[in-house]
Amino acid sequence: MNTRYRVTIQGIVQGVGFRPFIYQQARARRLTGFVTNTSHGVELEIEGPDPALDDFLRAIRQEAPPLSRITSIQVQPLPTEGDGEFQIRKSRAQETRSALISPDTAVCPDCLRELRDPLDRRYRYPFINCTNCGPRYTIIRDIPYDREKTTMAPFALCPACAAEYADPFNRRFHAQPNACWQCGPQVALHDQGGGRIATPDPLAETARLLQEGWIVAVKGLGGFHLAVEADREEAVRRLRARKQREEKPLALMCPDLETVRSLAWVEEEEAEALGSRERPIVLLRKKEPNPIAPSVAPGNRYFGVMLPYTPLHYLLLDQGLEALVMTSGNLSEEPICIDNDEAFERLGGIADYFLVHNRDIHLRSDDSIVQRVSGALRPLRRSRGFVPVPIFLAEPIAPVLACGAELKNTVCLTKGDRAFISQHIGDLENLETLNFFKLTIAHLKQILQIEPEVIAYDLHPDYLSTRFALEQTGIELIGVQHHFAHLAGCLAEHGLNEKVIGLSLDGSGYGTDGQIWGGEVLVGDLGSFERRGHLEYLPLPGGARAIREPWRMAVSYLYQAYGEDLFDQPLPLLKHCERSKIELLLQMIRKGINSPLTSSCGRLFDGVAALIGLKETVAYEGQAAMELEMIQGGDPEAPYAVEVVGDAGVYRILPQPIIRRVVEDLGRGISRERISRRFHLTVVEAFTRVCVRLRDDTGLEKVALGGGVFQNRTLLTEMEARLNREGFKVYSKSLVPTNDGGISLGQAVAAHYIRQNNRKGPA
Ligand SMILES: [Zn+2]
Ligand SMILES: [Zn+2]
Ligand SMILES: [Zn+2]
Repeated sequence: MNTRYRVTIQGIVQGVGFRPFIYQQARARRLTGFVTNTSHGVELEIEGPDPALDDFLRAIRQEAPPLSRITSIQVQPLPTEGDGEFQIRKSRAQETRSALISPDTAVCPDCLRELRDPLDRRYRYPFINCTNCGPRYTIIRDIPYDREKTTMAPFALCPACAAEYADPFNRRFHAQPNACWQCGPQVALHDQGGGRIATPDPLAETARLLQEGWIVAVKGLGGFHLAVEADREEAVRRLRARKQREEKPLALMCPDLETVRSLAWVEEEEAEALGSRERPIVLLRKKEPNPIAPSVAPGNRYFGVMLPYTPLHYLLLDQGLEALVMTSGNLSEEPICIDNDEAFERLGGIADYFLVHNRDIHLRSDDSIVQRVSGALRPLRRSRGFVPVPIFLAEPIAPVLACGAELKNTVCLTKGDRAFISQHIGDLENLETLNFFKLTIAHLKQILQIEPEVIAYDLHPDYLSTRFALEQTGIELIGVQHHFAHLAGCLAEHGLNEKVIGLSLDGSGYGTDGQIWGGEVLVGDLGSFERRGHLEYLPLPGGARAIREPWRMAVSYLYQAYGEDLFDQPLPLLKHCERSKIELLLQMIRKGINSPLTSSCGRLFDGVAALIGLKETVAYEGQAAMELEMIQGGDPEAPYAVEVVGDAGVYRILPQPIIRRVVEDLGRGISRERISRRFHLTVVEAFTRVCVRLRDDTGLEKVALGGGVFQNRTLLTEMEARLNREGFKVYSKSLVPTNDGGISLGQAVAAHYIRQNNRKGPA
């Protein structure tokens, strides 16, 4: 007796070898029927004896191809048809439109083995790939995902590759970027002026140049890297000077896990992340001593390390290179370079040589960065390898385009119960990045076939993302407050839509009162919020300049704590800084000239870092706070006493008592390491107190954490632990960055529910 089922499978099931997998599983069990791609995913009809069918369905769930992600399987009985065999049926082009696209994926073990096998026809071929690995998102021009719609279009398959492509039993069946030495892209080495260097083996020659200390721009999957050997201090300094990147840590690439372990401590989950098909940069605690040049990650206890992810990277590192600096191929804060000619022009002043190839990158995508904190891997940048895999929402929402904030910008498009967050776009502070932002929106709308009904934007009137949103016509525009978006993103990630307490701690975001918020305790759900607590306001003297010059914040906190007596305090800062400079700043503060008010938590960290003489000016936002975290001692300490005052149902945490205790400790000769530790615990204590009071007021027991301050390992770990001890259930972000790189998700989801509330009208 035979049975027949229709099986509908949704998720990432197209372009990842799903139909041949089904075909092979059906054939192996002598089942009959067919499989085809549809607008929803993959559909098949399958007929045969029950035990074989059950085993077939088990295999779909348990043995699906590595790049697929099944989100649902529906099985429906049908009358039997008695067809003779199992077939793959052609999909109709217009029906593949809403299928999910796979992200770019690191070279798989099978391809890596062939790459290193002298008998294989693709021995040392830098673009080897198969259905289970290789470029996807970065080469797709349009959908459906077919070779003609990718940057592989100019390369006609040779007969051997074409035969693989057509064979359902081959690992390269329908592998769109399939290529070999005969028919595919090739690498070439160029000099600084763009002139091609004649060499039989560009990769070996590149390795030799790196070993001589030259800077080489290497074209990768989502853009160019700038590479130098990581143990050459002089070369690393030269790279920093030319790239105008003075202090931010530089990423490393090592040939294998064993080499990584010689530089840094690697926990099991971190090793898994390093070797995962997403191949992100993983932040790992440095081993001391280590052979890496000090300039790679100054003032930092961590290295950002990745393993090779393209065959080209493997071939390069196989030449005896132990560790390369591999930093984004861009100048300062511009987007990463992707075109060869563009690279010669824009990177010509940085790189001495260029290792390029002739497979175009359609859409740039920077390396992703993750760190393991408080029991979970958390992205700091979610980009190459992860995008465009969606975040699945608890229920379908309207199609929304969310424009993100300013720093670490990403955009988000929603469709049904899926939220697609873009790759890292960057700091929206220049025209190049703005153009990339617009290009990414247009591209994602096209390949995901989403026509948004709503645009969500940050309330800050000067953000380029906000201005872009406000220029759009004929579409509903919804502003979402910055810290509310951090909260909503955390709720969305956890599939929650109920009132919770939200701790949104970051550097800055525009408040509904026109001030600069950043140390916020909200009560809200996905569609509304109330501000129920915050750090006490104080002036931000010089506005944005105070971000680059934390000494300004220190003076502002000192003035808040001591008034005119601040000069009587025995502080290193007051000795370094000319009195007239401080007086000038005080005048600005007193008169309120260019001194907006802020409740920022990030600025409190900056201020304390400057106060204890750690960092008076910085090269990038958050650097002082990061260094304050890094110097912390490990011994148990008690927090400083905290003062929370409240009126009109809004609690305010006073920084003055904290600042006074820091100053006292300095006067008593307490080490900066101990002060830093105490300060961290004090911030945790202060916000915990507010949560406890709000629980008394509201009965709410869930706390959602969001905002860039939670990139701080100590703060996240201690805050979760402290709130748990108080009996709270704590939610934090691990699918999207807690920094502004994840804010587009919260904006998108919040905009939908705000709109729903507006339509319902006041209750
Ligand atoms: Zn492969
Ligand atoms: Zn070929
Ligand atoms: Zn923020």
